[in-house]
Amino acid sequence: MYNTIVVGAGQAGLSIGYYLKKTGLDYLILDKNQEIGQVWRERYDSLILFTSKQYSSLPGSIVEGDSNSLPTKDEISFYLKRYAETFDLPVRLNTEVYQIHKNGDYFSISTNQREYKAKNVIIATGPFQHPKIPTFAKKLASEVLQLHSSEYKNPTQLVEGNVLVVGGGNSGAQIAAEVSKERTTYLSTGQSLKFMPLYIGKKSIFWWFDKLGILSASSTSFFGKKIQKQGDPIFGNELKQAIVEKNVRIVGRSFDARGNTVFFNGQDHLEIQNVIWATGFKPDYHFLSNIPEVINQNGAPLHKRGITNIEGLFFLGLPWQYRRGSALLQGIGYDANYLVEHLRQ
Ligand SMILES: Cc1cc2nc3c(=O)[nH]c(=O)nc-3n(C[C@H](O)[C@H](O)[C@H](O)COP(=O)(O)OP(=O)(O)OC[C@H]3O[C@@H](n4cnc5c(N)ncnc54)[C@H](O)[C@@H]3O)c2cc1C
Repeated sequence: MYNTIVVGAGQAGLSIGYYLKKTGLDYLILDKNQEIGQVWRERYDSLILFTSKQYSSLPGSIVEGDSNSLPTKDEISFYLKRYAETFDLPVRLNTEVYQIHKNGDYFSISTNQREYKAKNVIIATGPFQHPKIPTFAKKLASEVLQLHSSEYKNPTQLVEGNVLVVGGGNSGAQIAAEVSKERTTYLSTGQSLKFMPLYIGKKSIFWWFDKLGILSASSTSFFGKKIQKQGDPIFGNELKQAIVEKNVRIVGRSFDARGNTVFFNGQDHLEIQNVIWATGFKPDYHFLSNIPEVINQNGAPLHKRGITNIEGLFFLGLPWQYRRGSALLQGIGYDANYLVEHLRQ
């Protein structure tokens, strides 16, 4: 019987592992992947983070190099692996959690390896689990190449012809700017695009966010609510430049498809050869189906700062779990420390 089992060895699981280690409690971190850092390694090839190295570091260890520069996804993947080694965190890889049961005052955790028992379970399986793709995607002809942003690696995956990127968030913007260097590219979005530079006066935008209190505003504060409502801007000017140079053309929100044609609000439509769905993700907590009271109708966890109504069951790494930084590298340590303090008490 362990005191605590953490499910997931991404930045959330490793950060809480760091704080749990200091307590001397007996714990284990389980992850279904073969390697630490795999999630970042498998993201698209050209991905460069919008948070500078100073704001991409977990508690106790900084990402190597110029703290004001932007890390690549492979640097972060390597950093996470080294982080687990440096602090000698007890991670069991290739261990997928299938189901969690509450039995009186402890949990049974069944996995593809064996069954574990623990007094506390921390779910740190990440906010980006299953691709969310509109149902009308199924109406597209089979010759149209379709990829979700989580499957996109680089333009060599595409078939001949134009590209429609659906979704105007940061991934959609970066992918559209990249493919537009070699293809006729359209970006479909229902909202007006808001851009923010990565640097102001040689300082990372996250340095400014920090100094202005944006990173520390809680989800329930006036400032925090305002930031949540506004949503994230697109960081960097690559897409802006591509739109000005007419390499990316903006079209309205996509709402239907037939054959090779995609239809957009504003009575527009286009014949398309490639579609990249940068339409986000949906949560997946199927392993909690025996404890349904912690999941709401939309499939999202019910909690207060990660603490659920089930004694001993916690979440970590959710977007806006407490602050904007809750699902970012820089902010995860704050929430991890809070949960460990709660556990200790
Ligand atoms: C394209 C993109 C760009 C981003 N850029 C930035 C950025 O610039 N700066 C920044 O701070 N953040 C950025 N983020 C956000 C955030 O840092 C990442 O999403 C981060 O990977 C989330 O960490 P996590 O530990 O919560 O989840 P994950 O990294 O997803 O880790 C979850 C782990 O849980 C494991 N797992 C899942 N289910 C099970 C199971 N049933 N059993 C066992 N293990 C399981 C997975 O294998 C995985 O290793 C970006 C995200 C994306 C998608």
